[in-house]
Amino acid sequence: MERILISSCLVGRPVRYNGSDKTHGWADIVARWQKEGRLLLLCPEVAVGFPTPRPPAEIVGEGEDGDGNAVLAGTARVIEDTKTDVTHLYVRAAQVAVDFAARHGCRHAVLTDGSPSCGSTFIYDGSFTGVRTSGIGTTAAALRHAGVRVWPETAIPELDLILGDQANC
Ligand code: SF4
Repeated sequence: MERILISSCLVGRPVRYNGSDKTHGWADIVARWQKEGRLLLLCPEVAVGFPTPRPPAEIVGEGEDGDGNAVLAGTARVIEDTKTDVTHLYVRAAQVAVDFAARHGCRHAVLTDGSPSCGSTFIYDGSFTGVRTSGIGTTAAALRHAGVRVWPETAIPELDLILGDQANC
């Protein structure tokens, strides 16, 4: 059975920076996956010791060079709105996720979009003004580099179809 690494805030854990979980429209599918024993929950930020709640953080780089790939390459930083530089913790969190996926044989990860760790189609632009930009978070980028297929929560139905097709092979 295909196992899935999933952002724990997508499974009702209140671990986001503001102490909330991440509501979404596919809770029925996630509940079924959980019942099937497919899910491995991880919050990479909590895994490296961030408290909940915690200050919001965004990736700050130059122009388009401001996403998780750039952080991993050392050309962008992760900064909290308090101006604290937390780049080293985000890089460590990404490595924790890669090790976790490898240890459990996860070839798929469903991660919360928009997060500086977990985002996979968009993140925020580093201005702390709520402006989205296309890009990827640090954990999502590291998982992709490691060969894990990363999906945003909006792709849960698509992944469910793929898993169903595999089961019918
Ligand atoms: Fe959710 Fe990922 Fe943020 Fe943790 S780091 S709260 S799993 S989006």
